[in-house]
Amino acid sequence: MAEIKGTTIQSRLEHIRDNYGREKESEAVSLLKKKFGNDAGGIILPMSWYALAMDDSLCLYIKELSGLPGESAYQELGRRSAASHMKFFKVALGAAKTPCEVIEKMPILHKSYVRGFGEMIVSESSPNHSILKISGHRETFRSVCSSNVAYIAEMCGLIAGVKVRGSEPRCLCRRDTCCEYRFEW
Ligand SMILES: [Zn+2]
Repeated sequence: MAEIKGTTIQSRLEHIRDNYGREKESEAVSLLKKKFGNDAGGIILPMSWYALAMDDSLCLYIKELSGLPGESAYQELGRRSAASHMKFFKVALGAAKTPCEVIEKMPILHKSYVRGFGEMIVSESSPNHSILKISGHRETFRSVCSSNVAYIAEMCGLIAGVKVRGSEPRCLCRRDTCCEYRFEW
C-alpha cells in the first residue's frame, strides 16, 4: 500500500480549517477515524506516514465542500501546497532555475514524500517540455495525480517565472501501465 508523509495530510486539514472553519476540520478528522480506525486514531503528526487512500478521502471531502467541478478542487490543492512550500523548495532546489532543472529534482523529492508509489524518472526533457514517468506503483487516485501535476507545474512556474501547463496523458487510474506527468511552457 502506498503511503504519504503526514505533512501532506496536515496541509489538507489546514486548508479545510482556513477555508471552511474548525467545525469542518473536526468533521474531516472524525471521518478519517471512522474510515481508517487506528491509523488515524492518534495525533496527526507531520513526520508520520499515512495511507494514500486517507489522503484521497480528505481530497474528496474538500472537493465536496468546494463545489468545484471535475478535478479543479484537486488542482487547487496542488497549487496551494506549492505556494506554501516555496520557502522550503528555494533551499531544496538549490540552483535550479528553469522548469527543466526544477523537474529534474522531482524524483528525489518524490522519494522523500511518497512510499510505495513506484519510481519517478524524467523520461523526456526539451527546452519547452518535460515528462515525469512513474512506474511500478500499484495504487493511485485521481486526487493524488491531479494535485501532484498541478503542484509541480505551479512550483516550476513560481521558480522560473513562466506559465507552466501540466497534464497527465497516461495514468494508472485509467488502466495505463504507468503515470506520465507532462509539463509545457
Ligand atoms: Zn496517475
